[in-house]
Amino acid sequence: MPRLVMKFGGTSVADLERIRAAAVKIKREVDRGYQVIVVVSAMSGETNRLVGLVDQASMGADAKTPGFFDAREYDAVVASGELVTSGLLAVVLQEMGIQARSWQGWQVPVNTTDDHGAARIESIPSDNLDAKFAEDMEVAVIAGFQGVAPDGRVTTLGRGGSDTTAVAFAAALNAERCDIYTDVDGIYTTDPRITAKARKLERIAFEEMLELASLGAKVLQTRSVELAMRNRVRLQVLSSFNDEPGTLVCAEEEIMESNVVTGVACSRDEAKMTLISVADRPGIAAAIFTPLADAGVIVDMIVQNISEDGRTDMTFSCPVADVPRAEKALEDAKARGEFNYRELDKDTDVAKVSIVGIGMRSHAGVAQKMFKNLADDGVNIKVITTSEIKVSVLVDRKYMELTVQSLHDAFELERTA
Ligand code: ADP
Ligand code: ASP
Ligand code: MG
Repeated sequence: MPRLVMKFGGTSVADLERIRAAAVKIKREVDRGYQVIVVVSAMSGETNRLVGLVDQASMGADAKTPGFFDAREYDAVVASGELVTSGLLAVVLQEMGIQARSWQGWQVPVNTTDDHGAARIESIPSDNLDAKFAEDMEVAVIAGFQGVAPDGRVTTLGRGGSDTTAVAFAAALNAERCDIYTDVDGIYTTDPRITAKARKLERIAFEEMLELASLGAKVLQTRSVELAMRNRVRLQVLSSFNDEPGTLVCAEEEIMESNVVTGVACSRDEAKMTLISVADRPGIAAAIFTPLADAGVIVDMIVQNISEDGRTDMTFSCPVADVPRAEKALEDAKARGEFNYRELDKDTDVAKVSIVGIGMRSHAGVAQKMFKNLADDGVNIKVITTSEIKVSVLVDRKYMELTVQSLHDAFELERTA
């Protein structure tokens, strides 16, 4: 029998009414003759609530400063949201006369690394599910976002991780397709919450979706796109609220003609840090970025400016949440004499806006058009990075929405190619 993976995100299982609506869509696929593997998220808001509880539990006597917490226990707590929704959906499906069974990560098992809070899936042996499907199971309801480490403890895959669970099951169980049901009816040219002019794409190339996701379009977790691309999983994003056709994420060759720029992404919680006046010598970048990497700071953009006195300013961007850790790592390394700088300048009020499109490979002047547009809007660009298929700029956070809307207009994204 052909197999299908259907993933329902937080808003799609937010309460029993939504869970029943999901069950109707699942039954339709069972009636079409599929063995269905359903992957569920926690109810919307639930994972945030659980993360908040761990923060509070770890606070010191002042109840203000979040303390150290054991990442294994963080996982034990935050993985629980998905247990509830998987069980509830199985009950609702059974009430509809469907042979459904819930599966927690360790029961399948979803084997992961032991990087608690950001574990990576290593393997999903299909024997247990195969055996149950061969008996009488019609639907397996999998708790997304979770797995089991080699030592048997529960792990989680990082925020938004049930997308990755879904794609991993599609690959491991040879599913015909992986359908991601969410609160939008597909992948748009930009976040439809930012501009009503955003247009739904019929298809998008893996490479483009990978860039958009890693640049802030949270409609799919970056790793899920990576995994789908590597395993050639047919990935579709569609709405759990209606029956509109969704967006297919597919190989570039399957797309006929597209605009030069396919989409605009943005990421709100960015920060820019500059080490002013460091020595311009071989090894300086390694000296600076090693302690940052050791502290787990996710460095994104990097710019180095040589000044006349033979010294250099080193600027980098990272998530706002990483700033305290970055600051401490740099100050400690300076105190150890690994390098010197005159000042550490922090700007925690910036956002990143990016344009993405495989058409950029064969078109000149795309970056120039982007910069001209920002200039006309009076928006100052703080840092620029480019790759073959994207241009990203860092701007003051208060200009983020304006910049997205303006670039969406400038590259005529509301029009089809
Ligand atoms: P789920 O809980 O179903 O996983 P998410 O909130 O993680 O849903 O992702 C869906 C959201 O992604 C949408 O509500 C939308 O605001 C946002 N989004 C950002 N960029 C895009 C885009 N280019 N196309 C569609 N949605 C986008
Ligand atoms: N519930 C988890 C989160 O909010 C996983 C997911 O929804 O994909 O991050
Ligand atoms: Mg999500």
